[in-house]
Amino acid sequence: MNEQGLSEKEIFSYLENVKSEDTDYYRVLSSMCTHPHKIAVEAHRLFIEANLGDLGLFAGAHSLEKEVIMMLGELLHAPSVKIPVEKACESSVCGYLTTGGTESNIQAVRGMKNVITAGKKELGKIPNIVIPESAHFSFDKVADMMGIEVRRALLDSEFKVDPASVESLMDANTIGLVGIAGNTEFGQIDPVEELAKLARQHEIFLHIDAAFGGFVIPFLENPYPFDFKVQGVTSIAIDPHKMGLSTIPSGALLFRSPSFLDSLKVSTPYLTTKEQFTLTGTRSGASAAATYAVMKHLGREGYVKNVQYCMQLTAKLVEEARKLGFEPLLEPVMNVVALRVPSPDLVRDQLLRKFGWNVSITRTPRSLRLVLMPHNTARDVEEFLQDLKKVTAEL
Ligand SMILES: *Cc1c(COP(=O)(O)O)cnc(C)c1O
Repeated sequence: MNEQGLSEKEIFSYLENVKSEDTDYYRVLSSMCTHPHKIAVEAHRLFIEANLGDLGLFAGAHSLEKEVIMMLGELLHAPSVKIPVEKACESSVCGYLTTGGTESNIQAVRGMKNVITAGKKELGKIPNIVIPESAHFSFDKVADMMGIEVRRALLDSEFKVDPASVESLMDANTIGLVGIAGNTEFGQIDPVEELAKLARQHEIFLHIDAAFGGFVIPFLENPYPFDFKVQGVTSIAIDPHKMGLSTIPSGALLFRSPSFLDSLKVSTPYLTTKEQFTLTGTRSGASAAATYAVMKHLGREGYVKNVQYCMQLTAKLVEEARKLGFEPLLEPVMNVVALRVPSPDLVRDQLLRKFGWNVSITRTPRSLRLVLMPHNTARDVEEFLQDLKKVTAEL
């Protein structure tokens, strides 16, 4: 650290310089995040010092968090439950705002483990969960941190998890299943109803990771069943900082029943509240305000338009890529395209080096992974395909 402080001017001239190295989402087709809505940014600023880790001091920010959870609960068809006010979820929907999909997934599995351990069910040495092969890498962290074995079920030819493979991996120590509603690589949605049936039959939990899809699927013309409407779904992760257009960090975790949140509690001796069920301690109230503001401002209609826009770009990209001879691995379900191209790794490097496009790659099989976000335009799609044509012609 420097001995004497620098002037504001010096700091900001340095920061602006450094910021110019960030991409600003120009020619970015690899990200599930985007520019936050300007309303979200303003609300974030207004609540910049609010700490949801100490709720008693920030009753205003906390009321916004509860409103957001109620709105998300309605969106995801959470049942209303009657809960005494002193209980963890003080609204009729159970959940809280997290830092993102990773924290939500970790806490969902921690909840499964705690509820089962607190109950009568005798577990063998190592509890396990069964997740799709396509699950996000955050579940590797779950395995690492919690002493839980994570078993990966195979996908079918459409990149959905195969329920038969899930069932074959289940045993007496299986405490829960995970389904992905909008997987990160392909944008595919797992057969949630079939997973829920398995979970109900075996009386275990079913967590749905809708980190990306949660702000997409409900706004599609024909929404797929993926949320609490499906009996057997016990928790859902949804990220406002992806297609919800809120600021980073904004995630959310919702539970069907209050016993889950209860199971996550630890006591907090020196705070204004007695207990805390979150993973992080100090927590951004600014994110809660940002998510509240953008959800209220856009309303269902605004999100439908946002999703329609991204789906139109997706359809355009696929249609025009086909004319150039590139087929998608699957018909896009959401605004994610996996495009078959020769030597995808090489193509990705060339697209970046020669034309400044950021794209990514799916693992198996390897293909170009393109996410069409609100920051992309129809013109981007046209220019991208021209550049893709040039790059592949030179191979
Ligand atoms: C993005 C994503 C995550 C991780 O979310 P973070 O906000 O980056 O922690 C988890 N699951 C899915 C399906 C995702 O798309």
